[in-house]
This record gives sequence, structure tokens and C-alpha cells, in this order.
Amino acid sequence: MSLAPSSNSSTIASSTSSKSARNAKFSAFATQALLPITSRPDLVFTHGKGGWLYDHDGKRYLDFIQGWAVNSLGHCHPVMRDALAAQGAMLLNPSPAYYNVPMIELADLLANLSGLGKVFFANSGAEANESAIKLARKWGQLHPSASGNARFEIITFKNAFHGRTLATMSASGKPGWDTIFAPQVPGFPKAEMNDIASVEALIGPDTVAVMLEPIQGEAGVVPATEAFMKALRALTKARGLLFIVDEVQTGCGRTGTLFSHQQAGIVPDIMTLGKGIGGGVPLAAMLCGDEFAVFQPGDQGGTYNGNPLMCAVGLAVMRTVSAPGFLEFVRAQADYLSAGLQHLSSRYGGEGERGAGLLRALLLGRDIGPQLVEAAREATPDGLLLNSPRPGLLRFMPALNVSRDEIDQMLSMLDTLLAKHV
Ligand SMILES: *Cc1c(COP(=O)(O)O)cnc(C)c1O
Repeated sequence: MSLAPSSNSSTIASSTSSKSARNAKFSAFATQALLPITSRPDLVFTHGKGGWLYDHDGKRYLDFIQGWAVNSLGHCHPVMRDALAAQGAMLLNPSPAYYNVPMIELADLLANLSGLGKVFFANSGAEANESAIKLARKWGQLHPSASGNARFEIITFKNAFHGRTLATMSASGKPGWDTIFAPQVPGFPKAEMNDIASVEALIGPDTVAVMLEPIQGEAGVVPATEAFMKALRALTKARGLLFIVDEVQTGCGRTGTLFSHQQAGIVPDIMTLGKGIGGGVPLAAMLCGDEFAVFQPGDQGGTYNGNPLMCAVGLAVMRTVSAPGFLEFVRAQADYLSAGLQHLSSRYGGEGERGAGLLRALLLGRDIGPQLVEAAREATPDGLLLNSPRPGLLRFMPALNVSRDEIDQMLSMLDTLLAKHV
């Protein structure tokens, strides 16, 4: 079955069929072969351009999700398409056991941009975080406790999200995740965000690291304060612990600086990147300071790590995002979006907005997030794609090159929706 935009949609649904007939067809299509791991709406996206996604019926949707803060440059940006085509004609996969050109160039670029000297490429944020966890445990074996035990405990945070492998689920603090696939991977005690005493209280002889999202994204865009980031950096240094920042969602320009931790003026020991680094292709990375690069050959790896096709796209994305003027543009758009959201909040009696850069949340003051998401998607003639990670708020993750015009359109559509639902 072809879902190509030019295919006339005949195998999916005729454009004249009624909506319910179409939905029945899609539901059947979806439930026959796809494991239902999420409840998907009854529509199929066929193509995208910049800030807009198009479905099989030609309806367009203004996209303020962008693959969950992934599509840094919007849909199908020319620099990514060019990188894919050029690399696709050169070399797809020599094996991770050999060097390739994009792998080398992207590693050098990331090391230069971050100040962390060593880079390991992975395919997903969870895999990058697994690498960070393994690296910290290895380092804890090489730097044992006073009594000689290998240190392995990594302090993480309530409501944190680090991924969906067993270890990263155990590191996450999402309610319910401690029992869903019990038993958990041990060694991830949970502290309170922005409470340094709660971290200090958990430090014991087995502790080797603290791992933090500079802004908890899935928890509803909850920022660590600058004071907390600084205090964590000082505490981990004083107690001989590694400071790991999970910048899978906040990194690569999303929060208005290349990496979010830079806003607190600190340097972590280990950082993980994902989502925006590939702009929509599966690419992630773990970076560490040279002195923490303790993996021996064989300790860590993966079939696709450093894959030239993905690294070539990542290189195109990161060169664009780090080019002069780009982050200033992101910050200007962020200020504009923030002001617009504040305006809507005061107009409809919400509880304000928060976030950094183009990772923001509107606090609705009532649990209408899921209804708004659905109504926004179903709006006509244009739909709007929004996300509600918690029922009382909406999260905004537009492309980093979002235009003022697109922000205005989103705010005006949201205004109409709030007028109906509040
Ligand atoms: C999305 C996310 C992950 C997991 O990334 P995947 O690519 O889905 O494995 C990890 N940490 C944070 C902070 C995330 O937002």
C-alpha cells in the first residue's frame, strides 16, 4: 500500500467517502497489523512541509508538536533532504566497526560545541541514557567507595522521564512505572526536583552520579532553577559524583541556547542528546568529558551507532542550528510565543505559562488539555496539532524556525478553542 502524497489516496479512502466510513476503514487498517501501543486518531499523514502536516484527505494541520520536539527544522527541510540524498548516494552502512566521514565530522562538531571531548552515537534517547548509566557504573567500579565497593547508584528525580528501556524506565520517576514491568533495574533512588537537601539525603556509599533533565518535559515543562543546577554541580563535585544531564528534549537549540544547562553557567560531566539532534531521523548521542571516557572496546556499541546516513543528517541539522543568528532567532520567537500565551492565559483565567525557548507550557487552570488537543486536531478548515502531557496544561514544541505568522495562526486558533471550552 502506497501512502505517497501523489497516490491519489485511492487505497486509503476516496476523498468523497463519508468521515465515518473513512474512520472505519482506518481503524480496521490500524488494528489488523499494528500493535496498539498508543491510541492513534483515525487519520493518516502523507506529507509535511515546514510547520504543516497534510493528511490523506489533503487537510492541513499546523504542527506545534513536531514529532515531540524532534523536527528542529520543521518537516522535510531542504538541508536535511539534501544531506539524505547526498549521503544515500555515497555510503549507507560500512559497519560501526569502521570510521565514516559524517560520524567523524559530527563528533568533532558536537565536541567543539559542547566542550565535552568524547561522543558516542546511538539511535534513541533511551539508548543514549543507557550509555550514560553504563558509563557511570563503569566509572564507579574504577572509583569505588571508601570501603572498596563498586559504586552504582544514580540519583534521579520524581516525575523524570529518561526513556522506555527497562533501565531508563527505572531511572524515570513517572508514577506507576515502578511496578508496570517489575522488577525494576535497581539503583535509582528518587529525589525532589529543585530540592538540594532531598538529593543530599540520598547520597550514600554506593552513589556514583546524579541524573537530571534541565527541564522535565514529559512532566509538564518543569524547569530546574538556575540555583538548583548550580547547587547540584557544586554538590556532585564536592562528593565525587558524576553530574549527568539528560538533554534529549532540551538540547540542540530547543530552549534558546545550544544546550539548556548553559543557561545555568555549569558544565556537566555527561550529557545525552536525542530528538532534535536528528531533526526527525533516529539519532542520539552521549557526550562526556575526556576524563570520564572509561569504556573499553566491547563495553558499549550497537549495529547502527555512528551510521553515516543518520550522522549526515545530524550534521546538517546541527550546522544549521549552530549557525550565527539562529539561536537569536529562536529566542525572539520564544519571547513572542511566550507573550502570546500569557495573553491567552490572562484572557481565559489560566495560571500563566512557563518554559524556556521553544519548549513551553500553557497552564490552563482546569483539566481540559485532552479535550483541547482533540478539538484542535478536528478543527476546520485547518487542524492544529497540540500536546497535553498533563491534563491541566498544553505543551508547545514548534519547529525552531517557526515563523511569527505561524505563531499568530496557532494563537488565534487556540483563542477560538479556548472561547468554546472554557
Ligand atoms: C524523549 C525523551 C527520552 C527518550 O528518547 P527516545 O528517543 O524516545 O528513546 C529520554 N529523555 C528525555 C528527557 C526525553 O524527552
